[in-house]
Amino acid sequence: MTCTSSALDDSITHAECGRTLSKREITGLLSLSDPGEIERLYLAADRVRKECVGDEIFLRGIIEFSSHCRNNCLYCGLRRDNQQAQRYRMAGEEILDLARAIEASGCGTVVLQSGEDPHYTREKMSGIISRIKGQTGLAVTLSMGQRSFEDYRAFRDAGADRYLLRHETANPSLFAGLCPGRTLDERIQCLKWLKQLDYEVGMGCMAGLPGQTLEDLADDVLLIREYDADMIGIGPFIPHPLTPLGGHPAGDAAMVLRMLAVIRLVTRDTNIPATTALGVMDGRSRGKAFQAGANVFMPVFTPRNCAEHYDIYPGKGDVMKADGAVLDFKPFFDTIGRPIGKGPGGRRKKS
Ligand code: SAH
Repeated sequence: MTCTSSALDDSITHAECGRTLSKREITGLLSLSDPGEIERLYLAADRVRKECVGDEIFLRGIIEFSSHCRNNCLYCGLRRDNQQAQRYRMAGEEILDLARAIEASGCGTVVLQSGEDPHYTREKMSGIISRIKGQTGLAVTLSMGQRSFEDYRAFRDAGADRYLLRHETANPSLFAGLCPGRTLDERIQCLKWLKQLDYEVGMGCMAGLPGQTLEDLADDVLLIREYDADMIGIGPFIPHPLTPLGGHPAGDAAMVLRMLAVIRLVTRDTNIPATTALGVMDGRSRGKAFQAGANVFMPVFTPRNCAEHYDIYPGKGDVMKADGAVLDFKPFFDTIGRPIGKGPGGRRKKS
């Protein structure tokens, strides 16, 4: 598009042209309520997505390999104090079999996700990663929470390519209240280590957390920009009845869509999934996400007998049944003119 000075006061136009947005402008975009303006925001994000990362939708197959967690985050159904949570762990062999199935189904990346489970020691996890790298052509993404620098280094040496560690919220006091015994600073220290170790790094947050303001969400966007995240996952907060936040209202799917669009405009060439949590709130919004900036789809490959116990938030199971057959989504991707990406689909162009 051409960027004319007559549109100087228009933050959507400016964002599309790559101008750095102020916090006020970001807050303004996140609070848009006029359907026509919101559609303009989505269209601008969709054009930037097309220009910067192309039309392909990349698939990342997730294996939720352990539901054990040493943490006690107030929002999460896997929290330590939830005595009713059923806990399971997968053996290395089972993880490897699932990784092969993920490759066979056409995904270029496996995501290994779990609660924070010290059972998977540095050695055990490094072994699993190096076997997947040795036996498949998959990119390996880890999503297993906070670990030591040495652990992250060992996993990287074993061949891990990427690491997802959502910052959850950029508001330090909200973070400290939601994650007892943890601080946002520690989380950010982990993100810095991961960058230092040359992982592709994923950040992200929930929208609609109890006590979270629009300003907090604008700070999330700014933090993601500041740390130059390679991947960004945004989902609505979904109350889990077996957690202290069970009685709070859920986050708004429309707000998540505006976040995705703004983050696409601000970060340009990043990988942004249409998250499962968004699909739980509203299946149509998850589809819409692909026309508002998203370019990644993460089908769940955890076998049903385990997946039903990977109960971070309610409703996940129903969405996953739909995901199980990636091919079921193909017709939708076809109708919006989006081919499925081949290969790992990382942010960095490998020569
Ligand atoms: N233990 C790993 C993986 C966490 S699960 C880690 O700490 O990174 C992945 C994401 O699910 C979390 O980062 C969080 O943003 C999201 N999540 C957890 N509980 C949720 C809830 N109740 N509603 C919506 N998203 C939730």
